[in-house]
Amino acid sequence: MYLVDYHTHSSYFSPDGRSTMEELCEAAIARGISELCVTEHCDVNGWDGKPCELDDDSYYDMLDRMRGIYGERLIILSGLELGQPTQNMDLARRYASNPRLDFIIGSLHNLEGFEDFYFLEYPDEESCRPLISRYFSEQYEMVEKADFDVLGHIGYPLRYIQGRAGISFDVSEFTEEIIELFRVLVREGKGIELNTSGLRQPYGKTMPTPDLVKLYRECGGEIITLGSDSHIARDIGAGIKEGMEILEAAGFTHFTVYRRREPQFVKI
Ligand SMILES: [Zn+2]
Ligand SMILES: [Zn+2]
Repeated sequence: MYLVDYHTHSSYFSPDGRSTMEELCEAAIARGISELCVTEHCDVNGWDGKPCELDDDSYYDMLDRMRGIYGERLIILSGLELGQPTQNMDLARRYASNPRLDFIIGSLHNLEGFEDFYFLEYPDEESCRPLISRYFSEQYEMVEKADFDVLGHIGYPLRYIQGRAGISFDVSEFTEEIIELFRVLVREGKGIELNTSGLRQPYGKTMPTPDLVKLYRECGGEIITLGSDSHIARDIGAGIKEGMEILEAAGFTHFTVYRRREPQFVKI
């Protein structure tokens, strides 16, 4: 089984990362992972008032150093998790333009003018509805306008609405919007990721959920990457095998890896 992890954070460039890149690489090798893509956070609206640090070459030089140490045992890719690109398109373009990049996840962690969904309160189901509606429309705009390869963790607010606030919000009332989102992804030559982090959290599900992975496939979606969203070495590769089973059950025969922003397809 060819295992990859295409969503990981280290303590070197992600403010919430807890393990060094060396620790991530060693964990990947120990778990039989063939490709590790480091996707450090790069939110255009900064992090605690500090700008993203990934707009010079030091990150890419560090990844080259990792290749020097581990390159014979592990393929190491240069990635970014580009947060809220449409909220500052000039910065997003700058971060995404580095020719040494292999892969970019476009993520929406906060609606324009709001804090990260992580920090919001969800008193009841009714209060969630307008947030979810805007969540899908802002993602649609991102897919149309911004430069990235796959849309990150679709359903992210539900990790907190269902997983933390315990509100059984039924996202199926937004099926039309979700279909539109999947169609624009296909039109734009972009894909989605299957983010397995929710499996090891109270939420208990992947993002997107298996039924939405199937819907994406039915909408013509072919590009799909697999990522643990690890912020610590012990989580590297977590849920990837389960993720491959979800892909297969949804009708996928391949998952996607990237080289210099070009998708390649690997048989499941
Ligand atoms: Zn994220
Ligand atoms: Zn992440």
